[in-house]
Amino acid sequence: MRGPPHTTFRRAEIGSPAGVPVIPAQTDIAIIGGGLIGLSIGWRLARRGLDVTVFERGTTGQGASLAATGMLAAAAELEPGGEEHVPLSLESQRLWPGFARELEADSGLSIDYRSDGVLLVALGREEVERLRFRHEAQKRVGLSAQWLGGPEARALEPGLRPSVIAGIFCPDDHQVDPPRVMAALRQAYLALGGHLVEGCEAEPELAGGRAVGVVTPGGVCKARVVLVAGGAWTKLAGLDIPVRPLKGQSLALRSTPETGGLSRVVWTEQVHLAPKSDGTLIVGATMEERGFDDTVTAGGVYALLDGARRALPSIEEMPVEAIWTGFRPTSLDDAPILGETGIANLLVATGHHRNGYLLAPVTAAALEELITDNRITGPAAHFGAARFAAIKAFSSEVETGSRQENASTQEEAAE
Ligand SMILES: Cc1cc2nc3c(=O)[nH]c(=O)nc-3n(C[C@H](O)[C@H](O)[C@H](O)COP(=O)(O)OP(=O)(O)OC[C@H]3O[C@@H](n4cnc5c(N)ncnc54)[C@H](O)[C@@H]3O)c2cc1C
Repeated sequence: MRGPPHTTFRRAEIGSPAGVPVIPAQTDIAIIGGGLIGLSIGWRLARRGLDVTVFERGTTGQGASLAATGMLAAAAELEPGGEEHVPLSLESQRLWPGFARELEADSGLSIDYRSDGVLLVALGREEVERLRFRHEAQKRVGLSAQWLGGPEARALEPGLRPSVIAGIFCPDDHQVDPPRVMAALRQAYLALGGHLVEGCEAEPELAGGRAVGVVTPGGVCKARVVLVAGGAWTKLAGLDIPVRPLKGQSLALRSTPETGGLSRVVWTEQVHLAPKSDGTLIVGATMEERGFDDTVTAGGVYALLDGARRALPSIEEMPVEAIWTGFRPTSLDDAPILGETGIANLLVATGHHRNGYLLAPVTAAALEELITDNRITGPAAHFGAARFAAIKAFSSEVETGSRQENASTQEEAAE
């Protein structure tokens, strides 16, 4: 693709597969997928002194994780029907400060964890009613959300247009910077002795109806436990699981002293605007049912820029630094799928939809508990795979020799 002189089509890239990947003969825990979720779990397990190997078919974070904005927004992102997910989101928000502190300490890197809150705004009269409706829903489920008049909202963010006539301030919704988080996770995981095999596709290896390791083009790695954290590709990584890719286009602008910027995340009906400490302003994100089509489209970019300009006129002067697409791993109920699969020793952690960053700490804690204590307690216990009947069989599209061999035992395990 060809872009304007200083514009890229990825915001960041982390890691590089070096030559032919070396596959260890065995490991205690094999994780398929080196995204935010796989690496967060790997890091927590490595902290416990376990022998972990993460298999990533490209480079770490190349899936959804480097495409994200990094909002930790339990209140702002509350969707109709999402009320049942609130205890999980709140638990993860509670865990975030400790997760951030330990990640920064283990990696020696900053993740730009900012506790500035999120400001939702209504532009024009029509949007006010819908914002009020959202505020009522937030209050009903006990989320922190404070109603603001236009002048109060604009006092928080003086760069906003006068057409901002109401707002909700969510003081407990924070943000991190995804490329920094991914760099820190990779670094912390490796520093604690975790093994990372990049440039290596992997699938679970089954024998006798249980997972016994992973199969890769370079050979088999035996493992006591196999965890699939393949994001939107989880189905292709061997699990017939109701997760689909939900495309999102985003772009990065650069604020300067002349343009000014924002002090916190601003959320409108059309876009969110997330200022990072290095002066980047992320404008995100479209929601498109397009399968794995990664095209950056004029319509997508137009919607983002139009939405941003309606709220913050100074974006007109900001250079465009990067434009990209990503695929959210979205389940049938928009909630994550965590834990056992119905096949012995085969676990899953995926389906984090728009909230992978928000939910990374609670997900990592739940899988750590499952692997070390054989149980999941707290709100994560309600997000097991058992709520979807379809997960219990392997997909026929991805059958390998070892899978076909075990088809009947898998059915038995599913009962
Ligand atoms: C535009 C956009 C904006 C977002 N904004 C936010 C936000 O503000 N806040 C928030 O909380 N969340 C946000 N999200 C969601 C968040 O990014 C995801 O929920 C999260 O990154 C999912 O992480 P993951 O590790 O499950 O998936 P991924 O990051 O996709 O990682 C899965 C990895 O598995 C690898 N893989 C797959 N199959 C195999 C295989 N067979 N062998 C080896 N490797 C394999 C892939 O290459 C990939 O690297 C956003 C997402 C998008 C797209």
